This record gives sequence, structure tokens and C-alpha cells, in this order.
Amino acid sequence: MEQKKHRAIERLSAIGYEITLLKHSIALLEWDQETYMPSQAIEERSEQLSLLQTILHKKSTCEEIGELLDALDATDETPAGEETLVERERAVVKVFFRDYSREKRIPTELVTELSRQTSIAQNVWVEARKQNDFTLFAPKLSTVVSLVKEKAAAIGYIEHPYDPLLDEYEPEMKTERVKTVFQEAADDLKELIDDIRGKTPVDETVLKGSFPLDKQKGFGNRVLTDMGFDDCRSRLDISAHPFTTSLGSNDVRLTTRYRNDYFNTGFFGIVHEGGHGLYELGYDEKIHGTILADGASLGIHESQSRMWENIIARSRAFWTYYFPILKTYFPDQFDKVPIERFYRAVNSVKPSLIRVEADEVTYNLHIMLRFSLECDLITGDLCVSDLPEAWNALSRELIGLSPETNADGVLQDIHWSMGGMGYFPTYALGNFYAAQFFAAMRRDLKDIEDDVAMGNLHRIRAWLRDKIHRHGRMMSAEQLCEQVTGEVLNSRYFVQYLRGKYSDIYEL
Ligand code: MG
Repeated sequence: MEQKKHRAIERLSAIGYEITLLKHSIALLEWDQETYMPSQAIEERSEQLSLLQTILHKKSTCEEIGELLDALDATDETPAGEETLVERERAVVKVFFRDYSREKRIPTELVTELSRQTSIAQNVWVEARKQNDFTLFAPKLSTVVSLVKEKAAAIGYIEHPYDPLLDEYEPEMKTERVKTVFQEAADDLKELIDDIRGKTPVDETVLKGSFPLDKQKGFGNRVLTDMGFDDCRSRLDISAHPFTTSLGSNDVRLTTRYRNDYFNTGFFGIVHEGGHGLYELGYDEKIHGTILADGASLGIHESQSRMWENIIARSRAFWTYYFPILKTYFPDQFDKVPIERFYRAVNSVKPSLIRVEADEVTYNLHIMLRFSLECDLITGDLCVSDLPEAWNALSRELIGLSPETNADGVLQDIHWSMGGMGYFPTYALGNFYAAQFFAAMRRDLKDIEDDVAMGNLHRIRAWLRDKIHRHGRMMSAEQLCEQVTGEVLNSRYFVQYLRGKYSDIYEL
């Protein structure tokens, strides 16, 4: 019997490795498409990707996996196997069971139809946004919403039809739990924004000017090196939308986009993706190539990027060390600028309409807006034709602003056209997890700010690797959070972090 289980786990691991190899191959084609691919290559590239995706889907849902999981007595609740299977193997079985059960429940025809309709909807969305015409997009979005509802029903749920959608990106997280966490933070955030609104705006002019791209890249790479990156395992390139992807256990690609006339976009984009990249490079070697070598959830992944981007790289300690270095890259721009003015400028808070340009205080309100609307779309409490009006009203209520155009409102994000309902909350969860993790890190590593102020980021990286990165998907996000911080997700840490930081900057 034990022999049989041993063989089953070995076979499952072998399939897992092939899945990993396929995923990395797909990632390489996609990375190339976003960075260096000549434009006329798009047609065959799409076919290459579609073929590999089909092969991957077949492999991930093959009958053999089901038989192996049966042989291992895998279930949802308890980790499969007995004490004889080591912890890592039990985690492999559990994650396989989760992924496999999800995939298997979605009928193949629905997968195909979703992929077809979202591909159409994305194209229409681009055009609708360009023309600022929601009515163009509405019929396509209606189709996508109804297919996504079908998907949720096929996967199944106990409490909320949004649960199975959320679960795709944030395993084991529940809609009601997100609602509670968001509600607990919303009033405090709005109050903080009101307090800041009553103060003199921060002067941001120092961040605008002329920033040659090679200098931006040079400084960005300098900081990446200090964060722990080297040429042997990573690269930094340019793409229209910044992203991080793994092409192998020892091959992480980061991209950013630069603006010649504005400092923040390129640099904070690099540090953000660097946070994602360290997570990807930090998995324990023992899980390399396995199904466990991935983020615990998108929220946990985003916590790593947000912590580096905002909590660390927008701190006074960080610029105490790096501002003099930045001046050597851009002497004309910054030589006469006092550090305090620069520090305040990179931390300017201003309610705005566009999510991707939002500061760290207002950002989560943009997410709460989307989360609330997409929940209502999925339950059927809101229909697509009423979406723009609902968006504008909620935007006014949460952010204090209502967009003049749908292009600056309901049409601004690509996610819904892709059928990505359930994705948005992970951005806000990332901010919450980041603050909670950082608070735990400060308890563990006394005076960590002194390290940062000397450009020594080593202890931070080592702590993150030990507590978070190396585990990959061994634990769920909530389990990880509890193990690292001693409690489940609690938005209080994020609110406290912001209160403390911005009371000082805005003299509240
Ligand atoms: Mg990110």
C-alpha cells in the first residue's frame, strides 16, 4: 500500500514538473511578445501560444491526475496521505487536488467560449475607451459577465457566487471576509484623506523635468542590485505595462516603462516589480520546478511588490541613503533640492480618477469601488447598462470625485473585458498584507530603518525570504499570514502605517 502511494506521489511530481516546464515556455513567448517581438510576428505567435495553452490545459486536467489523487485519498479538507508522506509531498497533493478539481468542474466548451468572447471583448474595450463610448462595450461585457457567472456556478460555491471567482486568485479567501476587511478600513482611509485634503498640497514639481532613460535605468539597476538581484538570474526590460514573469526557477524577468518627463513611473515601477521578482527567486530550492513554486496568492504576491515600492522605497530612511546617489545620476534636476522636499514629493496624496496613478492612501478606495460593483454584477443586483451610473456615484462616495467621462471611469481598466472578476481585491489585500508583514518584521528586526538608511537591504531580503518567499504555495495566504504575524489578516496595520507616515508629512 505504502509502495503504491509512493509511486503515485512520484508520478504526480513528474506531471507537476512537466506542467511547470510548459508554463515557463508559455511565459517566455509572452515575455518576448511584450518586449522585443517584431509586430508582424503576432499572428503566428498567437497560434504558438494557443497551441501550448491547449497542451497545458490537457495536461493539467488529464484523467491520470484524478486517478493518482484518488490513490492518494486526496480531499479538499484534510491534506492527503498519512504521516509517511513528508509535509512537502502533502502540500503537493493538496495543491494538485485544488487546481485539478477547479479546472475539471469548468466544461471545456465554457473555457473555449470564455476565451473567444474575452478576446473579442478586449478588442472592443480598447476601441470603446478610445471613443469614450460605453454603449459600444456594454453588449460584450454583458456576454462576458454571463459566462463568468456560468463559470462560478460550474465551480460551485456555498456562500457567495463571487467566492469561486475570488478563489482563483486568492485561494481560500471568501467574499464576506473581504467585505469585512474593506469595511473596517474604509472609514479610516476616508477620514485620513479628508484630513490631508485640508492641508497645503505637496509640491511635486521636482519630479517633473527631463530624465534621460539610460540614467533612469542605471539608477533602477543600482537599487535592484542592492535589493539582491544579479544578471545571472534576472533581467530588466521595457514594456507598455510593467510586469514580472518567471521563465525558469533561476530566470526572472522584470519590465518597467519610463517617462522622460516624470521620475516616479520608471523608478517605482522597477522597485514594485523587483518586489515580485524577489518572491519568485526566493522559493526554496527543494520546491523548484514543482507545483508549489508559485505565490501563495496574488494578494501575497502584491504584498511583496507594495512593501518594496511604498513602505521601503518611499520611506525617509531609504532616501537618506539613495537621494545623494540619485543626485549623481541627475545632478541638474536634483542638486539643489533638499531631501525633505523630494521625500514629500514622492509621497504626495491627491484623490484622482485613475487607479494606476493613485497614491498609496487613495489606492485601496479605487479597489473597494471595483470590488463592490463586480460583486453586484455577479449576484445580478446590478446590470451592465447601469454600470457607468453606479460607478460614478460610488466614485464620488468613496474617492470624493466623479469622472467626467467613462474613459476616465468605468472604461479605464482592462480586467473586466478579460473576464477577470475576482482579481481586483487582491491589489488591496496586498497593501494590507504588506503593512501587517512589515509590522512583524519591525518587531523581529529592531532598528531596521537604520539598515535602510545605510543602503543595507540585506536583512529585509533575508527576513522576507525566510518568512514568506521560500514557502511558495506550501500554505494558503491566511495560514502564511498567521504564521508570520501571529494573527489573520487585519487592516489595522495598514491604517496605522498610513496615519503615522502622513501625519508627519502633512502635519496633521
Ligand atoms: Mg503588482
